[in-house]
Order: sequence, then C-alpha cells, then structure tokens
Amino acid sequence: MRFRRGLPKPFSTSTNRKPVIAIFLTFALISAGTVALSVGSTKHSEHRTSVIEIAARQRTLAERFVEEVLLAREGVRADPGYTAQAMTNSATALIGGGVAPAVNGDDDETALPPAESGSLRAQFELDDRLVDDLIATGQAVAARRPTARLAETGGEHVAGLEPLQRLRVLAALTSSVAFRAAREIGRTDEAATGDLITMQVLLGIGGLVITVLLAGMLLATTRRQSAHFRSLALSSSDLVIVLGADGCRYVSRNVAAMTGLTAQELYGDGVMQFVREEDRAVLERVRTTAEPAEFTFQLRNGAGEWRHLEARATDLRNDRSLRGVVLHARDTTDRMALERTLQEQLQRDGFATKLSEALEMADDEREVFEVVEHAMSNISERTPMELLLSDSSRAHLARVASAPGTPAPGCPVKSPFSCVAVRRGTAVVFDSSEALNACPHLRDRPSGSCSAVCVPVSFMGRALGVLHTTGPDRNALTEEPVARLTALAGQAGARIGTVRAFEKTQLQASTDGLTGLINRRTAEQRLRELVRAGDMFALVLADLDHFKALNDTHGHEAGDRALRLFSQSAAAALRERDILARWGGEEFVIALPELDRFQAVAVLERVRHDLAVAHPGETPRFTASFGVTDSLEGDSVERLLAIADAGLYAAKHAGRDRVTIGDPEAIAKTSGSSRARLESEEETANGGSAGARASMYDAVAHEEEPRPSGVEIR
Ligand code: GH3
Ligand code: MG
Ligand code: MG
Repeated sequence: MRFRRGLPKPFSTSTNRKPVIAIFLTFALISAGTVALSVGSTKHSEHRTSVIEIAARQRTLAERFVEEVLLAREGVRADPGYTAQAMTNSATALIGGGVAPAVNGDDDETALPPAESGSLRAQFELDDRLVDDLIATGQAVAARRPTARLAETGGEHVAGLEPLQRLRVLAALTSSVAFRAAREIGRTDEAATGDLITMQVLLGIGGLVITVLLAGMLLATTRRQSAHFRSLALSSSDLVIVLGADGCRYVSRNVAAMTGLTAQELYGDGVMQFVREEDRAVLERVRTTAEPAEFTFQLRNGAGEWRHLEARATDLRNDRSLRGVVLHARDTTDRMALERTLQEQLQRDGFATKLSEALEMADDEREVFEVVEHAMSNISERTPMELLLSDSSRAHLARVASAPGTPAPGCPVKSPFSCVAVRRGTAVVFDSSEALNACPHLRDRPSGSCSAVCVPVSFMGRALGVLHTTGPDRNALTEEPVARLTALAGQAGARIGTVRAFEKTQLQASTDGLTGLINRRTAEQRLRELVRAGDMFALVLADLDHFKALNDTHGHEAGDRALRLFSQSAAAALRERDILARWGGEEFVIALPELDRFQAVAVLERVRHDLAVAHPGETPRFTASFGVTDSLEGDSVERLLAIADAGLYAAKHAGRDRVTIGDPEAIAKTSGSSRARLESEEETANGGSAGARASMYDAVAHEEEPRPSGVEIR
C-alpha cells in the first residue's frame, strides 16, 4: 500500500483565488497610484526648483549688472551687456517657458515651464519690465548720460533720483520682485507637498479598507465553502471519496461504519483492491475523466460481502484544494435486495394468479394434471419435475404429471407417509443426495447424485402427494423457483382436493351406497337417453326371490350382503357399456344396448347361472327372477318398464329363479305393479303367514345348482 505524506486536507480552510488576486490588484493599484503621484509631484517640484533658481538668479544678475555698469563707467573693463542679456532671456523664459541661459559657466542652461499661475506671470512680467528699465538705466549710467527721461515701464517712479541712485533702486526692485516670485513658488510647492502627503495617506487608507474588506470576504467565502464541504463530507450518510492523480486522496470518516474498511486501507491504489474486478475500469475512467457522472460499482466490505454502491462524480480536479474527482457513494445493497424481493413477489403473484385462473378452468383431475405440467415448464424448463399423487385409498403414490421435455425424476417413494416432505408438511430442499441428512429415496438413483426439492401437496390438511424435482448435485433450485413450486403445490392440491370432493358428491348423488351401482334416478336418465337416441336395447327388471324371508331368517346384514353379491356377480357377467342399477329394495334394472329381448335372455341366463355358482361365504344362497323386454316393444321408458315388470310378474308366478319375456298385452290385464299383485296373491295362497314365505325362501335358497330357467318365449 502506498501512503503519501502530506496528503491534502480538502476540507480544511483553503484559499480562494479571486479575492486573493483582488487583494494583490488593490495593493498594486495603490502602490502604482502612490508612485505616480510621487513621480508627478517630484517632476513638478523639479520644475519649480528650476524656476526658483532662475528667479533667485535674477537678483544676483541685477546686482552683478550694477557692479559691472559702475566699473564700466569708471573705465574698468567690464561687460554689463552679457549680464543684461542673461537677465532679459531669463525673464522671458520665466514668463512663457523656455530655456534660461547658462551664466559664465556657473549654471547650466535650464528648461523652464511657463508660469503656472496668473499672479506669478504678472510678477514675472513686472520683473521683465523692471529688467528692461534697469538695463536702460545701466546703459545711460555707463555712458554718463542723463536718466531722468528714461521710460518707467514697471511703474517704479524713479525719475527724480540721481542716475546712480536710480540704478541701485531699479536693481533692488528687480531683485525684490524676483525674490517675491521665488517665495510664492516655494509656498505653492509646500502646499502641493502637503496635498501629496494627504493624497498618499488617503490612498493608503483606501487601499487598506478595500484589502480588509476583500480579506473579510475571502475568509467568509472560504469558511462557507469549507463548512459546506465539511457538512457534505462529514454529516452526509454518503461515503465521500476523492480520487486524484495518485489514487484515493480522501475518504470521509463514515467509511468505517459503512464498509468496515479503514481510510488507510483505501488511500492510493488501496481502494481498487476492494472494488469488483469488472468495475475497476469504470472507476479508473471516473478518476481520470470524471465520466460518467453517475455509475454503480460493487465494493467488498470488511466482512467480505459485496456491497452495491451508487455513486455521483463531481469534477473538482481544477479545484486547488481538492485536485480530484469527488465521489458521493450510497450503499444501495439493502434497497436493491428489497426491490428484488418485491419484483419477485410481483412476478410470483402474477404466476400465482395465472395458475389459479388455469386451475379454475380444470374440471377433472386430468385437466388439473395438464395445468400442473404447463406450470412446471413455466417454473423451469430444464428441471425434471413430477407430481406424485395418492389414490383414493391414500396408500399408494403414483406419478400423474411430469415436466414436459425432461425425464421424470422418478422418485421411488411408495406411500405419501414415507415422504419426508409430506411428513413435515413443508417444502424440503436437499442440496445433495450424498449428504448425511438427505432423503433416502434420493440415494442410488440411476442418474447419479443430485439435489432435490420436494413440496407436499395437500388439501384441507390431508396429504395428497408430493411435487418432486431434482437438479444437479449441490446446486438445488433457488428461493424463487421453490417459492413458485410451493405456490403450484398449494394451488394444485387445493384444486385436486376440490375436484375429488366434487366427483365424490356427484358419485354419491348418482350411486347407491350399499352396492356401488348407479341409483334409480341416474338409471332413469340413462334409459331416457337410450330411448331418445332410438338405439336398440334390451331392458330387464330383476328381483331377488323370497328376499323378505332371507332377511327374516338370516338378518338384515345377510340381506345386505346378498344385495352386494348380486350386484358384483351381475356386473361381472355384463359388458362395460351395459347399465346395471339398483332400482330400489332388492330390485334391479339392467339395460343391454344393441341386444334385443331374446339375446338378453341368454345374457341373463348367464347372470342367473353365475349367481347360482357364486361362493357367497357367510351369505345364504338365493335366486333372482328377471322380466325382459326390448326397445322394439315400446317408445317410452315407462312403457318398457311396465312390460319388463309384466315379465317379472310372470317369472315370479311361474315359480321364480327364471327369465321371462314380458307380454305387452299383460299390462292392460293387470293393474298396479307386479310385486303388489304377487304379494296379494301369495298372501292369499299362504294364508298371510310370514313363516310360509320363509320356508318358501328356504326351499329355493338351499338348492346347490341352478335349475334350468323357466324361460317362456312367446
Ligand atoms: P318375491 O320372491 O316375491 O320377490 O318375495 P320377496 O320376499 O322378495 O318379496 P318382496 O319383493 O316384496 O320383498 C322385498 C323385501 O326386501 C322387503 C325388505 O325387507 C327387503 N329389502 C328391501 N330393501 C332391502 C335392503 O336394502 N336390505 C335388506 N336386507 N333387505 C331389503
Ligand atoms: Mg321385490
Ligand atoms: Mg323379491
């Protein structure tokens, strides 16, 4: 791990460029202003000094001129003309500006500005005129000429004076005027210097105030920014990371709480070691380009779990205090897990809704199994699945549905209660058939070791079977498909239970509880359907002989067994499509499609024979009588029944245990049912004795072999 010394503190008080520049500029401007003022003022001063010098020199020149004039008058060699010229030129230069001449090599030529004020100019002009008068007087004195008539251009009133006196007075006046002018210039200069100092002080104060203001602003801005960043970085629930040229430069303090990693571990290249390999490229791109602005990546936390982070990148590479890309990252792992759960829940709900709609349309078990198979391939196309269901005895499991396109898993479990999932009443996931606690039925399968998921199928708490799936060893189905399988098992169980309950009710309504044959109501419907279809069929009414006597002698239980024995025996002798129904009491109706009454007689003889040779066990032997007709004899169920009843009556009358074809003519002759007629006849014949009926029954019941039938064929 690379740890860099002097890591930046991006959120410490930092400098801000603009106010700093402004402060520098202010200083520069003030300095420049001060220097310019000083230079300007010095230049001005220089000029003034020259003016003062030249003005002061006029006095010296005037005095020197007087001396030279006096010398020249006395015949000494002197040149007052030169001095006079220097005075005149200087006076002119003092008024309008220009070059004041050098004098005898003492002074250099001096450039002068024009007189800067009106009063100064007036004084210099007066000086100029006095110089002219002085020179004129000097020339007169030197030549010993009279001076009284000389002009007085400077208003000096010296006409009455002696020439020498006049010369001296004019020299003094010239000196005085020049001196006064020089003094005035000096005074002005002092005032200007005072102004300059005042200006410079003001400038300094102004600059200081501006600088203080700017510095205050700078401090405030910096503090504000600093506080803003600090609040963002420290108070934010986001993880703040700064990525710079040298990798991670900063991580916020909440890194430990959020990731279980320390800042030291993440600094420099460290962060990349915790980022998922696939995400490193995007993070590197963000570090170098600050793009994309929003992205997600996964980070392995201190506990080794992968956390999903959603990050926003802010490009602050040009910010001198940060010099990097700032990432605000939020841990979205829990939110994503919640979203996924919700999504799965929604999908499951969709699946469950569709499944329940499909199952609702399934009317029988077969249709339910088809829906189950369809749903299986919806849950997973490649997983072997099967539905094992118990039969009505609930003792045996059999495969009733399996996922299309895959071989059935082939669970060898035999009974629901040998299935661990059924016993536990909840879905069981086996990761490996080799595990110690794996279901024993998973072991030693031809397909080898496997994983498995078994979900019990039940209805109202009663186990119906199990939904069984297998998968690759140690790679069992995930939570989502198991949840779907559970939904499928639950709904399929509910539907199968409902269908079975409905079928049972239907059966109960249509069958006779004692014998299991269809009941009279159902038989009537079937007979009407046969008549309506116009198909040929034979119709038979059967009645057990001397049944009252059997009941009386051997008990009601024996009577019930006899009824069941007759039902089983007759059903076995008949074809699948023949109708055998309990009509009521010990009477039965038989319909034999496609047969006429004569063919039916042969069938019924077989029934009678089978009953005679049956081994009834505890049940006493008994016989039955049959009345036969066919659809050619009538076109209504009622009429055909009446003819068959007539045949039965005839059979009973002829001695029972026989098959008799009914005579349609006989119906008209008789009134009421054959039984009623027969009973009344027998009551009369036997003197109404129940005992006689019992002996009569005994007579037939104990015959070992069936007697030849008394079939009467008309
Ligand atoms: P026959 O040979 O003339 O038909 O004489 P029978 O005694 O069979 O006379 P009948 O047909 O009138 O008798 C009907 C008797 O059948 C009356 C009743 O005791 C008996 N029986 C009717 N239904 C049942 C039943 O469900 N169980 C039992 N054990 N007996 C029944
Ligand atoms: Mg009867
Ligand atoms: Mg009877």
